[in-house]
Amino acid sequence: MPSALILVRNCVRGRRSMFNGTVLRRKFAVQLDERFADGDFGRRKTVKLRKRRVTHCTRMSPLPLLPSGPGGVGGIASRRTRHRFDDITGAVATKGDAGRIDRMKDVKSVATSESATETVRRTAPTRVGFVSLGCPKNLVDSEVMMGILARAGATITADAESADVLVVNTCSFIDKAKQESVDAILEMARHKTEGKATRLVVAGCMVERYRDEIRRNIPEVDAVVGTGELEQILLAAGIVAPRVEPNSPFRILTSVEAMVSHRPEGDARERQGRFSRDGWDGAIADLPNYLYDETTPRLRTTAKASAYVKIAEGCDHPCGFCIIPQLRGKFRSRRFESVVAEAERLVAEGVEEITLIGQDTTCYGEDFGMKDGLAQLLDRLARVEGLRWLRFLYAYPNKVTPRLLDTIARNENICKYLDVPLQHAAPDVLKRMKRGGGAEIFLKMIERVRATVPEVTLRTSFIAGFPGETENDFNLLQDFVEEARFDWLGVFEYSDEEGSAAYALDEKVPRRTIAARQRKLMRKQRGISRRARAAQVGRIFDVLVEGESEETPLLWQGRGAMHAPEIDGKILINDFGPYPTLLPGTFHRCEVTEAHDYDLVARIVS
Ligand code: SF4
Repeated sequence: MPSALILVRNCVRGRRSMFNGTVLRRKFAVQLDERFADGDFGRRKTVKLRKRRVTHCTRMSPLPLLPSGPGGVGGIASRRTRHRFDDITGAVATKGDAGRIDRMKDVKSVATSESATETVRRTAPTRVGFVSLGCPKNLVDSEVMMGILARAGATITADAESADVLVVNTCSFIDKAKQESVDAILEMARHKTEGKATRLVVAGCMVERYRDEIRRNIPEVDAVVGTGELEQILLAAGIVAPRVEPNSPFRILTSVEAMVSHRPEGDARERQGRFSRDGWDGAIADLPNYLYDETTPRLRTTAKASAYVKIAEGCDHPCGFCIIPQLRGKFRSRRFESVVAEAERLVAEGVEEITLIGQDTTCYGEDFGMKDGLAQLLDRLARVEGLRWLRFLYAYPNKVTPRLLDTIARNENICKYLDVPLQHAAPDVLKRMKRGGGAEIFLKMIERVRATVPEVTLRTSFIAGFPGETENDFNLLQDFVEEARFDWLGVFEYSDEEGSAAYALDEKVPRRTIAARQRKLMRKQRGISRRARAAQVGRIFDVLVEGESEETPLLWQGRGAMHAPEIDGKILINDFGPYPTLLPGTFHRCEVTEAHDYDLVARIVS
């Protein structure tokens, strides 16, 4: 199985990336305690990880490099050349020749026929390098595109230097994400102008938002592929699609053929202009409506034991700060049987943990007229033999129903874990956000959740500095955080996105105030988290071993059922117990021996 060039940067969401043990090293250097230098076997030493020390047992080290198995990926650390997002106009365009810029104007979203001919002439398989940015939903899109490419005979490579085609799947969530996407495109453009690559493709959310600007201002880009055009990746990469019989189950449905359903709420919001992209430079008129299914080829990049399954796409909610509905289209669910079939196949391939994702998973099935569709789906998936951990992310607060909670509580293999992005707690702010709710309502919901699902792990995220957020509103949010005691919490700084309803709001909060509020809230959460982690010392539970720690080769790391992949804290393993070594992707029992602000330290007991 080829390894893929994946450069997943989730800095926007504060996520970390680790795939099958091949870790994308963070920029910061791990400082090893000098006392560790002699490397005596069997003695306990201390390794300093950022601002903390973790005791480790030296008989574990040195650790072997981990193999990349099926679905495993390599990663490249990209050279970070900073370009302001606004700079893509002009400065970058001058890098290419004027004639090419003119030709680019005629290029549609897909490859030119000239390139297709070139591909036919090529004898060796096309080598494609992939850079995937953003959230797990975007990662699944990357996996689908890589699957389509691999099925057509392309080789996915982890080496940008040797790639014939480079693809950057972008994120356009907020300013920082856009900046990161531009940096990645320019970095890959450099590989094209100075290296072997002959084509550069830009895909994803940024294409939906800046389709024409990308093509006009970055002449190295040969083709763009929007979020609803994944099946066009072959043409964009200049690869001739294999001949597939019309009745083959492996035929890739085009957006036009895909079954598209709607929620009445979505149709109503469309009439109110929620999905309007008027004035967006180059946005195509049709909203994205693509959604993969169980027959779509997909090349997984996550660890062997763990997989994301996208159960729905798009969103009908009116949240004022968010342009995802314009980028991803109206909410639509995958067929129930399609999700089950994919889950069964993944488990048969060795996956033991499935994380269901979508912009809003709790609306699942509403477009098919299902009531409590997510609960029904979870109940069915929980019966897939061999599936150890099942969880879902991104619940909408007023969709956390009694039946959903009962389902989580009743099924042993559904993780007692709930991720509900609340965004704020002050009713006035939530009203301006067009979300509704407030601290009192949320606290009642949390009480209900904890009563129905004892020992549940709760995750949420907030936005600090939404327009009109007063000091009082922020204090209310702080009090709420103190009272709610979330296990995991993320705070985004408000980002003013053109095209969102909030963009037109007055009373914008100064940037420095926003940043200060973000830091203050995270400081508060650190204390809450530290106390919660300390209470876990001495407890014994299952850990999914991921491999070498991303911070130091002297420790290994894993996750418990209370940690969603890539987003929450982790378990640092400093003692393998009865085993001479561990295998990534295996489950063990571990005992927590130390606690830090967000992470736990544990020893393997069986
Ligand atoms: S629920 Fe709100 S924040 Fe989340 S994707 Fe939909 S509109 Fe955006």
